[in-house]
Amino acid sequence: MQENIEVRARKAIEQLKPYSPGKPIWEVQRELGLERVIKLASNENPLGPSPKAISAMQAALTELHRYPDAQTLGLKQTLALHYDLSPEQVLVTNGGDELITLVSEAFLDADDEIIVPSPTFSEYAFGAQIMNAKIVVVPLRTDFQYDSEAILAAVTDRTKIVYLCSPNNPTGTFLPKTELKHILDSLPKRVLVVLDAAYSHYVTAEEYSDGTEFVRAGYPLVVLKTFSKIYGLAGVRIGFGISQRSIIQSILKVKEPFNVNALAQTAAAAAVGDEEHVRRSQTLVFTERERLYKAFDTMGISYTESMSNFVLMEAGEKSGIIYEELMARGIIVRHGKTWGLPHHLRITIGTPEENEYFLSALNDILEAIA
Ligand SMILES: *Cc1c(COP(=O)(O)O)cnc(C)c1O
Repeated sequence: MQENIEVRARKAIEQLKPYSPGKPIWEVQRELGLERVIKLASNENPLGPSPKAISAMQAALTELHRYPDAQTLGLKQTLALHYDLSPEQVLVTNGGDELITLVSEAFLDADDEIIVPSPTFSEYAFGAQIMNAKIVVVPLRTDFQYDSEAILAAVTDRTKIVYLCSPNNPTGTFLPKTELKHILDSLPKRVLVVLDAAYSHYVTAEEYSDGTEFVRAGYPLVVLKTFSKIYGLAGVRIGFGISQRSIIQSILKVKEPFNVNALAQTAAAAAVGDEEHVRRSQTLVFTERERLYKAFDTMGISYTESMSNFVLMEAGEKSGIIYEELMARGIIVRHGKTWGLPHHLRITIGTPEENEYFLSALNDILEAIA
């Protein structure tokens, strides 16, 4: 049947570019007819979900005919205890992504401005676009470090939100605590800061802050966290924000009642208490990160030192070919062009076996195209 639809979407929506996720394993298997496909493209935890979370979800299956707890009370209490806050300072969302959308809906009027570093996670801009707000881009320095003064210089009367992603995706660089405090102290009081700490568990630098201490100190700050990375629960979609009560109250007004499903709530509460899984996941990344650096050094590849579970490597003019050749061998990584970095590839740190496989493939490819 031929469609003849005259209904038009909002102007703001027509200009949106679709999010480009890392290719799923099944898709590459089907397209290339490959048995072994490894995905180092979406910063997932290669060790899988916390075993405690798996048991908790299994035990919850028979209650799935019930609606989930709209207030996520149990999990909020667990998180409040964990971060030394009150439960009213916690908001649980359907992934960290939903928190960004909710913050946008709650705080952005048309023509308000958000400040975002660049390159960074694309969802901040997305949230502004759906609200018809303006995106003010402040480039990171050439070594991908934050430029606090440039961020402060970009503030105008219309600035509503400043996004800081630390460690930053896709660069792995972070904002030192003294600079975070400097930004918080210098901004007008009407500006909300969103500190995206999705990767905070992978930081080893002493000067890092995940922002929670500044929430406790009363700053107008939302700290974003997720269960998709270290806790290995990307598939059930759960994340959370912590902030001041009044800010949380505003965000709650635009939240759907049952935004977080029951399995996710149960899994997350169990995962927070699974310290062993967290430690194992950290150790893996700390060890393997060093291994990748060493191998890159040997191959003469430049990279940015990362405080995260991925490494941004400089692949030069041939990055497109390297990306395709890795894909042909069943290794999915992320091409930098989505972030305006056409000469870079972002590699998620996998298991030791996966990293070995990747490094040996990369070595072969580099020799073949030299
Ligand atoms: C993964 C990620 C998130 C959150 O992802 P969800 O799966 O929606 O929880 C937030 N910010 C950054 C920078 C991320 O990389």
